[in-house]
Amino acid sequence: MTVDFEPSEETKLILDSLDDFVEQEVVPRENELGDTFDNPRLRNAPDGTVDEAVLDAVDEVRRASADAGFYAMNMPEEYGGDDVSNVTWYHAKRHLAEKGRGLSEFVLAGPEGPKPLLLQADGSQVEEYLEPCIRGEKTTAFALTEPSVGSDAPGMKTTAEKDGEEWVLNGTKQWITNAPHCDFAQVFARTTPEEEAGRYGGITCFIVEREEYELGSRNNAVGLEGLQAEIQLDDVRVPESRVLGSVDAAFYNAMGFLSLGRLELGATAVGMTRYLLDLCKEYANDREAFGRPIGKYQQISTKVAKNRSRNYAADAAGLRLAWQMDDGQQTVEQSSIFKWFATDTFWQTADDAVQIHGANGLSEDNPFMEHLHLARLLRIVEGTDEIQLNTVAKQNGLL
Ligand SMILES: Cc1cc2nc3c(=O)[nH]c(=O)nc-3n(C[C@H](O)[C@H](O)[C@H](O)COP(=O)(O)OP(=O)(O)OC[C@H]3O[C@@H](n4cnc5c(N)ncnc54)[C@H](O)[C@@H]3O)c2cc1C
Repeated sequence: MTVDFEPSEETKLILDSLDDFVEQEVVPRENELGDTFDNPRLRNAPDGTVDEAVLDAVDEVRRASADAGFYAMNMPEEYGGDDVSNVTWYHAKRHLAEKGRGLSEFVLAGPEGPKPLLLQADGSQVEEYLEPCIRGEKTTAFALTEPSVGSDAPGMKTTAEKDGEEWVLNGTKQWITNAPHCDFAQVFARTTPEEEAGRYGGITCFIVEREEYELGSRNNAVGLEGLQAEIQLDDVRVPESRVLGSVDAAFYNAMGFLSLGRLELGATAVGMTRYLLDLCKEYANDREAFGRPIGKYQQISTKVAKNRSRNYAADAAGLRLAWQMDDGQQTVEQSSIFKWFATDTFWQTADDAVQIHGANGLSEDNPFMEHLHLARLLRIVEGTDEIQLNTVAKQNGLL
């Protein structure tokens, strides 16, 4: 297979159409929300709850994107997607992220949308959960993390026990994105003890509808308030038909899909890094200190040059990863390298962007602190820096 790092003609058309979509469907909604959206302080109530108008706008953007055929275009055609390649999906995610933080973040399916795990939907699950999710009519949540386990997820304490034709779930999940707003969550629970099933065996994924679980505390991450919360499962009963995939096999299945999550998150990091770099270049040329543009000082130009170089390398790693995934190759090491490097680059660039802009970098009227918060957060979610580097070390015969 010839490797070509330029977007194909078809991908270019998709990117152009995405630009049109953003102009027509996203920008007007952002303008309408005004400060409620632009200013993170005004977007959330003191308890973290997201402003209803913002939630509505997110909902509308998602549905409009699905109607236009973008939202879950990487999903199989037979369920309503468009089967676009990982390379095209990468280009599209990065392209939208180049617009910086905003409603554009919700044009393509994120953590609230369909993932390969949901493709294991069977029988009535296809019509009830998978297809509506691909059409942007329903949203979901992926509930793995618990108060006592995050990185060490197989050590989960949540259990599900069979009682006749039902499963009874008990436990607490936390930091679950979209838990307050989703229609259903994909909840991981231990169904066979670790001693019997092994560390990664004995875990099953259940579809639990929003009205079937209670919300616990909000987990308000600084910079992303209102989106994560605890899911309380106290004797929650779900029928056998809500097992997603095979009993006891969910963790192995989920591990098989890790690369896509890391590709998507890394693509966002690469795109937003580009957005920040453009702003840094412009400011470094315009802003004068001691009679010269600050970009003429080597300490400033080197920051831009280093981050540009890192961003270039991260993008190359992302494109290669996407191509390897399309080619059906094993990408355990590559996806960890990419996720770690792309988010670390985003973080360093966001931190330098604040520095280059001086006090303006700290101002809530400018986008820098908001991107810095997101960049910091991306180094924790979807596997922390340390977990990614552990994987790379393991793949190289260490640990
Ligand atoms: C905004 C946000 C959204 C999230 N969304 C979701 C979601 O939708 N669904 C979900 O299930 N979870 C979600 N999470 C949880 C996230 O996946 C976990 O926070 C993450 O996996 C880390 O777990 P932890 O916070 O418990 O940290 P811990 O696992 O307790 O780790 C603490 C520190 O120890 C380090 N560490 C742990 N083990 C090792 C090791 N073996 N070697 C070296 N260092 C190690 C970690 O890297 C970290 O620095 C979200 C978190 C945030 C902040």
